[in-house]
Amino acid sequence: MKLEIDQQRLLSEIEALAVISDAELPAVTRIVFTPTDLKARAWVISRCKEAGLAVRQDAIGNIFARWNGADPAAPAVGTGSHIDAIPNAGKYDGVVGVLGGLEAIRALQRSGFRPTNSIELLVFATEEPTRFGIGCLGSRLLSGTLSAEAVAQLKDGNGESADEVRLKAGLNGNLQDVKLPKGYYKGFVELHIEQGPLLERAQISLGIVMSIAAPASLRISIEGAGGHAGGVLMPDRKDALCAAAELILAVENAARSSGEVDTVATVGVCDVFPGAMNSVPSRVRMTLDIRDTDRARRDGVMQTIERASQSISARRQVTIQRELLNADAPADCAPEVRAALADSCREHGFPFLEMVSRAYHDSLFISGIAPTGMLFIPCRNGYSHRPDEYAASDDIARGALVLAESLAKLSG
Ligand SMILES: [Zn+2]
Repeated sequence: MKLEIDQQRLLSEIEALAVISDAELPAVTRIVFTPTDLKARAWVISRCKEAGLAVRQDAIGNIFARWNGADPAAPAVGTGSHIDAIPNAGKYDGVVGVLGGLEAIRALQRSGFRPTNSIELLVFATEEPTRFGIGCLGSRLLSGTLSAEAVAQLKDGNGESADEVRLKAGLNGNLQDVKLPKGYYKGFVELHIEQGPLLERAQISLGIVMSIAAPASLRISIEGAGGHAGGVLMPDRKDALCAAAELILAVENAARSSGEVDTVATVGVCDVFPGAMNSVPSRVRMTLDIRDTDRARRDGVMQTIERASQSISARRQVTIQRELLNADAPADCAPEVRAALADSCREHGFPFLEMVSRAYHDSLFISGIAPTGMLFIPCRNGYSHRPDEYAASDDIARGALVLAESLAKLSG
């Protein structure tokens, strides 16, 4: 089998998809189920059909493009990622795994390889949390991590439910049917940019993921008392923003004092009400994102933050409410998928780094229902979720090649 990646074609497809965006190049904005996103989805589907793949969509909009194997009833070997993008993002996050996965399949077709198990490209729906406040809706439903009822009720910023939005997008099926039966996939591999600087620093072009960090996210609402910035005397204040400031530093401190580099915590949103220069802030809403490769350690950090929040609330006489959006378990990548990736790297003489994924991916949820692995390629300066996100052409092609080789091993 002689495998060759059509690097030119893969790159021109990445460029073509980047143009289907609600932002000016090089920025990419593609919020799920907007007209732009629907256009991008249709474009990807047509590329898959062109490759002779059988395409279907489920009720939440996951796209499955299948190359039937000699034994079509046997569990499939899957690969894929996402094409939705947060506002002002880059061209490569998710897209490398989708178009790289498609090119891997085409390379296998050209080589004359005939799979025993079907090989399936999966484009996950609504990976980014931008629209519905929680990420990976497609893979959460596929894996049964989240119920159809819970997903249907999620609302976007305009108060439209996920159910209404997907029906408007022409996805009429039953959300209950999205969950995949056990044994649907024999193995699953996601190709992705690292979204961190480690590969680049090590000057190694490929990373095999050992485990995916567990994210937890919360909404926090602080209620104090407002008033005139001149009139309310300092001893009488119940300033919600001052309480928030203390809490944000407590969050940073809790993560730092875990003693492990894998523990990270971030407050990424902080809305202040009423937001006037001459008014004491009466209300703050913020978000909290905590991740770790060890669930117990992450939960310990959450408890430390909770204790800090109770003490701040008592001392400053403000109420602090927390709403847990998700607290997912971390995942270990499957030994057989890691071995397929490592063998493929070795056969080509490509060095690789074994690493942790600190960002979470659809693979985190798919790992609950199938042996799953991830292959990383470097991205410049570790930048992601910004317009100057960049992955080198050779790295993308190398990733697609190792992916193709691994899919062949898993479906042989
Ligand atoms: Zn991604």
